[in-house]
Amino acid sequence: MQAMIYRAAGGLDVIRAADLPTPDVGPQDVRVRVVAAALNHLDLWTRRGMPGIPPRFPHVSGSDVAGVIDEVGSDVQGWQTGDRVVVNPTLSCGQCEWCQRGQDPLCNRFMVLGEHCWGGFAEQLVVPAANLERVPDDFPLIEAAAAPLAYATAWRMLISRAKLRPGETVLVVGAGGGVNSAAIQIAALAGCEVWATTSTPEKVALAHALGASWVVNYREEPNWSKAVYLHSAKRGVDVIVDNVGAATWPASIRTLAKGGRLINVGATTGHAVEIDIRQIFWKQIQLIGSTMSTRSEFHEVMRLVWQRKLKPVIDRVLPLSELREAHRIMEEGEQFGKIVLNVGNGENAANAHNAGNAEYPQSPPNS
Ligand SMILES: [Zn+2]
Repeated sequence: MQAMIYRAAGGLDVIRAADLPTPDVGPQDVRVRVVAAALNHLDLWTRRGMPGIPPRFPHVSGSDVAGVIDEVGSDVQGWQTGDRVVVNPTLSCGQCEWCQRGQDPLCNRFMVLGEHCWGGFAEQLVVPAANLERVPDDFPLIEAAAAPLAYATAWRMLISRAKLRPGETVLVVGAGGGVNSAAIQIAALAGCEVWATTSTPEKVALAHALGASWVVNYREEPNWSKAVYLHSAKRGVDVIVDNVGAATWPASIRTLAKGGRLINVGATTGHAVEIDIRQIFWKQIQLIGSTMSTRSEFHEVMRLVWQRKLKPVIDRVLPLSELREAHRIMEEGEQFGKIVLNVGNGENAANAHNAGNAEYPQSPPNS
């Protein structure tokens, strides 16, 4: 099968096309013929080399996968060749203390598809059948691939961990990535007043379109924290989503209202930050971590995607062979929403694509 691999940890030049053997299917697995696979920031981290995770190369990344089942393991029930599916990217053992409690993102053998094992930037992928979710017949696979990691992560983060309540103010710091775009939509759906910071007039308009009622451009307003504070009539914000990390955490903590929650699933600009502990106890704020999702959270959020109550934002669609360009775009922060790779994958897969695919440009509109 054709795949895009990292031949080592490093810069863009480690990304190569390769011909790999077709993966074998275990008794509880299925093999998916990949039709579309979307990028996440995680793919950049995996390519650069993650501290603490022993590098094993070549590596195939890609956590967001939609496709068609082309082989079913001997013990698998309820799935057939030809079924259209997306894959839950959280892999868990199903047996440890945390899995027994339904907390699979805390599993002792927790893995993320495309990070700890091979992912979807390839023509075929083998995954446990327990990780499949059926895609409705009329839902485009290109769009389905844009949803799993970002929406499941944002759902757990806001609904299960931060426990959003209607009427609260939510600030999304750096509205451009997949999780943060999803967070704006989910917070608006939950009945919150959503504010955002972002970097260009185009991204300001897109954040409004997703459901943000007030957006500050931090390039025009470097002291965005003060702007938010004044906009809140000097009250501060109930919930702040800050996955930007070291560059923005001190300002975010200052911008929280009394009793506010800072919720976090990542640290794009760095993970070491100095915090004034007095701000935590005086204002009685909470710092809340989250990662990925449980199976039930995954099913719950994907149902809202199928119902079009949550709509994945697709920045652009590129062919699988353009993975290196896709990494460059993400590294430069040029995208708003998801970059999806169209794996194509033969005649049958082309049928499975369906007409919805035509909604999206195959190359950047401005190229
Ligand atoms: Zn487990």
